[in-house]
Amino acid sequence: MIDLRSDTVTQPSDAMREAARDADVGDDVYRDDPTVNELERRAAEAVGTEAALFVPSGTMGNQIAVRVHTDRGNELLLDSEAHIYRWELAGAAQLAQVQTRIVDAGDRCVPTPAQIRENYVAEDLHRPGTGLLALENTHNYRGGIAVEKAHIDAAVDAAHDLGVPVHLDGARLFNAAMALDTPAPKLVESVDSVMFCLSKGLGAPVGSILAGSSAFIDEARRIRKLLGGGMRQAGMIAAPGLLALENVDRLEIDHTNASALAAGLDAIDGLSVPDPETNIVVVDSSEAGLPAEEFVDRCGDVDVLGGAFSEYTTRFCTNWDVDRGDVETAVDRIETAIA
Ligand SMILES: *Cc1c(COP(=O)(O)O)cnc(C)c1O
Repeated sequence: MIDLRSDTVTQPSDAMREAARDADVGDDVYRDDPTVNELERRAAEAVGTEAALFVPSGTMGNQIAVRVHTDRGNELLLDSEAHIYRWELAGAAQLAQVQTRIVDAGDRCVPTPAQIRENYVAEDLHRPGTGLLALENTHNYRGGIAVEKAHIDAAVDAAHDLGVPVHLDGARLFNAAMALDTPAPKLVESVDSVMFCLSKGLGAPVGSILAGSSAFIDEARRIRKLLGGGMRQAGMIAAPGLLALENVDRLEIDHTNASALAAGLDAIDGLSVPDPETNIVVVDSSEAGLPAEEFVDRCGDVDVLGGAFSEYTTRFCTNWDVDRGDVETAVDRIETAIA
């Protein structure tokens, strides 16, 4: 089976399993877990923030950020294809009780300063006030696009000029940093908070990081508890997370494999596949007359797993359980499967 559904499907390494078994632990709600404390310290360092918080998932990290930055009834401004808007069960409405305002950021993946100014609402007798701008890097649904720092900073400047804080959903932040050849701390230096996943390309079994100022993280810790994310001997899952932080450089392998996969699939009659910027490959099967659901089924028949993305597009995501040989095998099998 060649599993390209996501970079979350990987098995933890033997080193991660051993680290989990041997971790020094304590009750993290009392801040007694040395391994979690160490992970939070090292994670903050990795993105250049004052503080960081270990959270069970990227979704919880994003939702905590929305809640901390906003007041009930505010507006949350973000791209129409943002993960926080599309794939988090309307959590912003349910948990932070904010109203979402979407703009189509297009290929840029980040709203322009003009879009931000046009969609900002002041707080007055009739209007709720914009409480937060949320950005995403890499942009998942737009194809794993690495958003350049200049575009992020332009959006942040526009938001800050209006007194609006900015959260970055950086589930795959280190993929963006790798693709742009920009260190992660530099890439996020202008935003007010950032979330990144340990459980995606970095290979940890569980967990994400929410990072920002100490004051922000203090409040985030309270909201994490509120949402049921206060964990006890969490060093068991933080220990593999510490090893995951050392896997940043190997993301390049996923990117190279993604390029090879894209080139191989693009050469197949009926498939159109742009060269990926990171580890996400988006296959358009419309010329082959294959709706994505059917294309995914055909791939599954030959033991290659992907996920339907839209009516005619399918996502394949390279990850550390997939090597170059697997990529070549996947291309061969898919060619036969759709012939
Ligand atoms: C995966 C992902 C998340 C959520 O992470 P989970 O750990 O799956 O909850 C958030 N944002 C983006 C862009 C993602 O790709």
